[in-house]
Amino acid sequence: MRLHSRSVNAITMTIQTPNKLIPYHPPDFARPLRNVPSHRLNIANLPSPLHRIPMSSDLKKDSVLKPFQDLNIDFLIKRDDMSAGVELGGNKIRKLEFLLADALQSNCDTVVTIGGEQSNHCRATAAACRLVGLEPHLILRTKTANRVEEDKMVKQKDSFGHVGNLLFDRIVGSRIYTCTPGEYGRFGSKALVDRVCADLSGSKGKKVYPIPVGGSNGLGTWGYIEAIHELKDQLNGEKVHHVVFACGSGGTASGITLGLALGYKEEREKMPEIHAVGVCDDPEYFYQEVKRISQEMDLDLSGVSTCESIEGYIKECMTVHQGKGKGYASSTKEELSFIVNFALETGIILDPVYSGKALFYFMEELKDHPEKYRNTSILFWHTGGSLGVYDKIDEMSDMMSNISSVERLNAYSSSGKT
Ligand SMILES: *Cc1c(COP(=O)(O)O)cnc(C)c1O
Repeated sequence: MRLHSRSVNAITMTIQTPNKLIPYHPPDFARPLRNVPSHRLNIANLPSPLHRIPMSSDLKKDSVLKPFQDLNIDFLIKRDDMSAGVELGGNKIRKLEFLLADALQSNCDTVVTIGGEQSNHCRATAAACRLVGLEPHLILRTKTANRVEEDKMVKQKDSFGHVGNLLFDRIVGSRIYTCTPGEYGRFGSKALVDRVCADLSGSKGKKVYPIPVGGSNGLGTWGYIEAIHELKDQLNGEKVHHVVFACGSGGTASGITLGLALGYKEEREKMPEIHAVGVCDDPEYFYQEVKRISQEMDLDLSGVSTCESIEGYIKECMTVHQGKGKGYASSTKEELSFIVNFALETGIILDPVYSGKALFYFMEELKDHPEKYRNTSILFWHTGGSLGVYDKIDEMSDMMSNISSVERLNAYSSSGKT
């Protein structure tokens, strides 16, 4: 097993060719997943770091880290926000290593995917496509779809903008199609992707590879099976009691849950409790998504568990917490203030849509059940998304003025002279 991960690392240490297909051999523990990819790409910067967060001995009583210190918690962060450069980084790149390998192997020249206006998945997909020579087409859900179209028709003006992820979508020349939240709800993401694929492959003669929302299907989820392989190596036998992360389309949750459950099957005492924090729907929806993805990976429960159904197994292995707050991509003052204070105290930027909400709402759980977490180690999986803060500048500016002062340097004063 070690040999396998070493050989992957060896690739990153020599010259890399992003579009080169690398034969994939899954870790031994993943044998119950029978639908195995044949190839992957090597485009992420892995392993991502695993940081132990230092606790100062004199934390202020309103410190965001105070609950960890009071409960003597060892706080670790898996830095998938550092999995690649700003254009590719976050959790989606792990899935794209498998998805784009499949696209190249199928001789496709074009990729179509879909997400919200500030989708990290679309941004990473677009940049990764260019990195390996594919043409990115993105369907973005936005309330401004009609106004932007009107501006284009009537004023010949491009008013779509370049905030956050959009700048990166556009700078790599993505072809963007807008839809309204209503259309997205009415037709569903799959039908919209299929429609654009049909257009491109019909008269335009493109060979199109569709990627579902969030890259969350059975194939993409192998990225997080590999991530658990990587984490186990980094932990080197050390026990983690709780693993916490944000859940949006379910691929990350599926990979982490199946990876940990299968990876620690022989060492049950080391198996962490898994806490997925859902940021856009109710917990039951996510259990069903993880079940669907497990079925796509062709999970064989015989010899793994006495549970009678995959659904039962999933529910035994993971807990989904409610963390959507005011709704997908909208933030409360408390959530944003948590992000600002967390950055101030740790130097780590969480994002407002996923990781910031996940840790904010997990802290509520921690405060509600302190004894459950006392003297444990908690690993928070930072899934990236920091470009999302650009979308919240107006809401966050007062908080930043409070913690970061700006003053005019008196360059002409003599007091600094030596
Ligand atoms: C997409 C995303 C998630 C959620 O991952 P899923 O696999 O879609 O559940 C979490 N964090 C960030 C920053 C993301 O972009």
